[in-house]
Amino acid sequence: MAARTDFGPPDFRTMLPPVIQKNYGQWRYHGRVEPGLLKNVGESGDELYTVRVGSERLLSTDRLREICDLAEKYCDGYLRFTSRHNLEFLVSDGAQVEPLIAELQVKGYPVGGTGPAITNIVHTQGWIHCHTPATDASGVVKAVMDDLFEYFGSWKLPAYCRISLACCLNMCGAVHCSDIAILGMHRKPPHVNHDVVRAKCEIPNVVAACPTGAIRPDPPNKSLTVNETKCMYCGNCYTMCPGLPLADAEGDGVSIWVGGKLSSARTPPTMSRLAIPYLPNNPPRWPEVTDAVKNIVETWAEHARKHERMGEWIERVGWDRFFELTHIPFTEQHIDDFTLATETYRTTPAFRW
Ligand code: SF4
Ligand code: SF4
Repeated sequence: MAARTDFGPPDFRTMLPPVIQKNYGQWRYHGRVEPGLLKNVGESGDELYTVRVGSERLLSTDRLREICDLAEKYCDGYLRFTSRHNLEFLVSDGAQVEPLIAELQVKGYPVGGTGPAITNIVHTQGWIHCHTPATDASGVVKAVMDDLFEYFGSWKLPAYCRISLACCLNMCGAVHCSDIAILGMHRKPPHVNHDVVRAKCEIPNVVAACPTGAIRPDPPNKSLTVNETKCMYCGNCYTMCPGLPLADAEGDGVSIWVGGKLSSARTPPTMSRLAIPYLPNNPPRWPEVTDAVKNIVETWAEHARKHERMGEWIERVGWDRFFELTHIPFTEQHIDDFTLATETYRTTPAFRW
């Protein structure tokens, strides 16, 4: 037996439901029964139902206990979280599916997010946890999801629509490859708090952390200077040094990106591209952001062909037509100064087509 170590995650195979262990690699087909309900059928005739539910993403222990109790009651405790924070109850007894969905609905869990729908929005930490956000995460996503809720539990859209949010350019969320991405943007250089820099920061490390060389040591003051014209507002310096805060009520906001996808179906994965360079932070409901996202979703839904993802639709009609149909103004910020970079990035692991 291999020596056991305490490194790495446990072997996922030990946590699979028995029906998956038994039919592993031997499934005959799978299908979508209704929004939020998937069905897998094995060569053996065994069936597995997956009931998908949107989660709030930030979950209290009480909520987690309730979810676990539901999983114990209906599917022997077999439950998983998807990468977009959906909950999936893995039910091997078909008779339990309807009672589970009924109880989920009574308790206010939205069932949906599969097939040509908007699935749960993946987001990052936002104002609640992280140190560099230019916008909130759960607050914006709650407002956007409320606005698009009708597309979560229905199949009204032409294809999948994946939305994500990252609250700064570090992009902990999947904003580079989502149909619509909401990305927090800083627009002002850091403020230098010399007392904090002197007390808490390793000056060589802070200088080395700046990708554009905008930070220089200031030995007489035992502090730093920032060349504001070189700064690209990335926030790296603040990660190294709390004396360089970047957050600014007037400068911070969000940008909207469109057309990315991870799937290799029909076309290789694509990167999201800039649609709206800046929208203000307007908590608690971010109306500018919710209106912009809904406008893009509904314009795509109206004009795309069946199965056409956002990026595929834009490539077919052309970017100028996209800006025309969505009434989004085209500005100099849309001009990509990393010429041809997006076209030349290798986005697929496939070697041959
Ligand atoms: S995207 Fe940026 S601000 Fe948001 S959690 Fe990640 S590092 Fe923090
Ligand atoms: S925000 Fe980024 S570019 Fe600007 S000074 Fe800090 S590390 Fe340099």
